[in-house]
Amino acid sequence: MRKCKAIAFALMFLSIMFTSAIQAEVKFDDYFVDQTMRIDYYHMADKTTEFITLDKVYQQGTWAGSPNSLGEPFDNGLYYIKIYDDISGTLIYSKGFSSYCSEYMTTNMAAEGIKRTYHETALIPFPKKKIRFTLERRNRQNQLGVIFSQVIDPQSVEINKEALIDGVTVYEILKNGHPHHKVDLAFIAEGYTLKEEVKFKQDVERVVEEFFKQEPYKSRKMDFNIYGLFKASRESGPDEPLEGAFKNTVLGASFNALGLNRYMLTEENRAMRDIAGHVPYDAIVIIVNSQRYGGGGIYNSYCCFTSDNEWTVYLFLHEFGHSFSGLADEYYGSPVSYNEFYPRGIEPIDPNITALLDPTNLKWKHLVIKGTPIPTPWGKEEYEKLTGKDRADFLQSRSKKLKSLVGAFEGAGYTATGLYRPMLNCIMFSKGAIPYCKVCEDTISKVIGYYSL
Ligand SMILES: [Zn+2]
Repeated sequence: MRKCKAIAFALMFLSIMFTSAIQAEVKFDDYFVDQTMRIDYYHMADKTTEFITLDKVYQQGTWAGSPNSLGEPFDNGLYYIKIYDDISGTLIYSKGFSSYCSEYMTTNMAAEGIKRTYHETALIPFPKKKIRFTLERRNRQNQLGVIFSQVIDPQSVEINKEALIDGVTVYEILKNGHPHHKVDLAFIAEGYTLKEEVKFKQDVERVVEEFFKQEPYKSRKMDFNIYGLFKASRESGPDEPLEGAFKNTVLGASFNALGLNRYMLTEENRAMRDIAGHVPYDAIVIIVNSQRYGGGGIYNSYCCFTSDNEWTVYLFLHEFGHSFSGLADEYYGSPVSYNEFYPRGIEPIDPNITALLDPTNLKWKHLVIKGTPIPTPWGKEEYEKLTGKDRADFLQSRSKKLKSLVGAFEGAGYTATGLYRPMLNCIMFSKGAIPYCKVCEDTISKVIGYYSL
């Protein structure tokens, strides 16, 4: 036990030593070639312990990210990938992310000590020389500390260079330029049989058309490349465990993720990456062939949503808000699987919710008009007495002035008190609400800028 503590302390020290931002003199061509290193690993955890082991490291096609964006500036996500040049110790790449495993760690099963293992992937530009691959995780005070660190040699004979899997058809839906300077979205088919390939292509085109009607995507359409990736599933539709329905599909997407019926995720990370690797991609979007309401999104991992529900477009925009820009859920009062997702009295890292510990220094204060009351009264008590459609009608009935006001509205992040959202309503707050609030829109714009620099 004492030895473990000593190792933990040494790793923490390593982290403090190396957490400086990427310096301007770190140039892509000095450290990387224009290819992708896919680092697969296993992530095992219960509530209080987590463990990482490397699986396989791959050399794959063109790097999708911008050579001008080696350091990601958002300070968001529960985890961080940090890549150091092994000899000099220079930080040469970093990116925040969240994971299915970390959500599992907040459940009752994890609290009972039941460990589960998830397969995850880190994508980085392919290094020229030995690197130190490091994963950091935030503690309850949101401070980052190292949980895994291992040297990877890009010249090693164990780097996997095998051909991509067969049976994947690539559709180029929108091409605006070189992947280095565009946001490259890979839409993957899940639960579509061979006979449903045409339907998949039509579904992608339909949701993409709706996507670009929405700001900030509408004004930034020229900054995107979009691909459809089809691999036939043997059976149609996703798993629905509560109905006793299990389907043989390419990604094994399932309703009832973490025991929540409407929550849908996939645990088939390897299969997902094998398909996505057919194109240079910055983000994965999974379209699940189903009429039921469901979806999920994990920051810098992937999002998924069902194709044929009346709320399909809303689901896509909401889940993509999570996976692409690390937006928090602004809603509260609906059942979730998590226990105390945001610790009391700690400012969340998420860009669109706040604990309002310092009302004079709101993190979105650049969008607040002078004189706006903070916190901002919005009829919360009246709203909480209502349910379902009456709540939507209530939000709709508020004055135009209140609906367009940016302030701090109490009730956010699954919590009725102590957490605040930026506006009365938002895609991240209530079902069917469109558009995004100004803070979410501003955050998404900055993420588009990061990928298209
Ligand atoms: Zn919002």
